[in-house]
Amino acid sequence: MRDTDDGLRDLYQEVIFDHNRNPRNFHAMPDASHQADGHNPLCGDQLTVYARVADGIVQEASFVGHGCAISTASASLMTEAVRGQPIEEVERLFRNIHQMLTEAHPDCDLGKLEVLSGVREFPARVKCATLAWHTLHNAITQARDVAVTE
Ligand code: ZN
Repeated sequence: MRDTDDGLRDLYQEVIFDHNRNPRNFHAMPDASHQADGHNPLCGDQLTVYARVADGIVQEASFVGHGCAISTASASLMTEAVRGQPIEEVERLFRNIHQMLTEAHPDCDLGKLEVLSGVREFPARVKCATLAWHTLHNAITQARDVAVTE
């Protein structure tokens, strides 16, 4: 099945197809320090996102689940983008992704993650593209809350 008229630019579309066909870091992480489930009922996308954080740095991120091409590709791109990044940078990326996908003239440079910008033209798919990011955000902030009580 191919979306030939979805308006995404060819290059971006190619990257998204590639990440959907061969998702990166698509596995559970038994030694994850952070983990959360995400669900997008509008589309049926379901993800579990894992992260291993040490010294405030995301050492590794991965995901499992099933969903549409956009949600899978976005999760795959995210796990690559956040690897080796400080938590603060991950949170900044999360905010910028949201801005890129919901505002007409976003003011942010997202590098490789800009392949997702075409999704902006399809409001129904924005939740697909942001699901993995919301889930990672929840995973990180939940575990932080737990850490504070220790
Ligand atoms: Zn979806």
